[in-house]
Amino acid sequence: MGEFELINHYFAAAPCAQGGEGVALGIGDDCALLDLPPGEQLAVSTDTLVAGVHFPAVCDPQLLGQRSLAVAASDLAAMGATPIGFTLALTLPSVGPDWLAAYANGLSRMAHRCRMSLIGGDTTRGPLSITVTVFGRVPAGQALRRSGARPGDLLCVGGTLGKAAGALPLVLGERQAPAELAEPLLAHYWSPMPQLTLGTWLRGRATAALDVSDGLLADCGHIAKASGVALEVNLAQVPVSPALQAFLGHEAALQAALTGGDDYVLAFTLPPAALPPLAELGFIEVHTIGRVLQGRGVTLRDAQGQDITPAQRGYQHFRETP
Ligand code: ADP
Ligand code: MG
Repeated sequence: MGEFELINHYFAAAPCAQGGEGVALGIGDDCALLDLPPGEQLAVSTDTLVAGVHFPAVCDPQLLGQRSLAVAASDLAAMGATPIGFTLALTLPSVGPDWLAAYANGLSRMAHRCRMSLIGGDTTRGPLSITVTVFGRVPAGQALRRSGARPGDLLCVGGTLGKAAGALPLVLGERQAPAELAEPLLAHYWSPMPQLTLGTWLRGRATAALDVSDGLLADCGHIAKASGVALEVNLAQVPVSPALQAFLGHEAALQAALTGGDDYVLAFTLPPAALPPLAELGFIEVHTIGRVLQGRGVTLRDAQGQDITPAQRGYQHFRETP
C-alpha cells in the first residue's frame, strides 16, 4: 500500500475526517481551510508523542489514537477555546493494516467526543511518532492565559490528580494490579477527557488557567511566573482519586497528585465571587486547593500552615527562591 492509498483508506475515509463546523476544506488539497466567525481568534497548539518516550512501542493502537488527540485537545480546553479541527503528522515504521484501522478508530472516537475534525496531515516512514496539531476558536481577547492571576484569587483544579502517574507502572508493565484497581487508572491514562466545557465556562471568569501536564506543583509554577504572583497550595485540599489511593497507598498517591504528570485536568485561578456559580454547574468537579498571594513561586503547606514544599532533587525546579 502506498502513501496516498494509506491516507485515503485509513484517514480521509475515517468518520472524523468528514468535515464539521468551521471546516471549509478538509483532507485532499495542499492546505485545509478553516472558517473563523468574525470577532474570534484562532487558537493553535501542537504535541508530539514518540514511541518509547511518551508511550510504550507495543500498546493498543485504538487507545493510542484516543490519547494522542486528547493530550493535544486539552491545550484548547486550557485556553477556553472551542475545538474546530486537527492535523495528524504520522511517522510509521511499516504499514500494519490492523494497527492503522484501530488507531484511526481511536482517533475518531476522541474527535467525536471533542467535536473536532481531522483536516489534514502528513505521512512518512520512520520510527513511530505522532504529531497532532489542534485548531480552535475563541472570542477575541477572551482566551485563558497563564498570566492573569491576581493576589486574592483562589487556586482551583477541575478534578482529582495523580491517576495518570499512578497508571504509568501499569502501562509500562512494571506492575500488575487487579482489574478493579487498574482499570480506572488506565482509563484515565489512555483516554483523558479534555475539560473543554470547563474551559469555555471559565472564559471571562478565570484570571489564569492551564492544563496540568507536567505535575501540579510544576504547572502552578508556570502560572506564578507568568502572572508575577505567589501560589499557595494546601496539601489537605489536593484531591486524590480513591482509585489511586487504593492502588498506591496514601503517601505515594499524594506524591503522584502533587508531582505526577499527564493528568490533563485544568488548574485555574479566579476571584472568590466567581466560584459559587461554578459550583452550581454541578456536573463539573471543582476543588479549591489554594490561593494567590503577592510574591513569587509555589509553596505547599500542611494542615498546620507549615511550608512543606518538596525540596529534594527533582522537585527543586518547582521552587523559586525569593
Ligand atoms: P503535500 O505533499 O502537498 O504536503 P501530502 O501528499 O502529504 O500533501 O498529503 C495529501 C493530503 O493528505 C493533504 O491534504 C494532507 O493534509 C493529507 N494527509 C496526509 N497525511 C495525512 C494523515 N496522516 N492524516 C490526515 N491527512 C493526511
Ligand atoms: Mg506531505
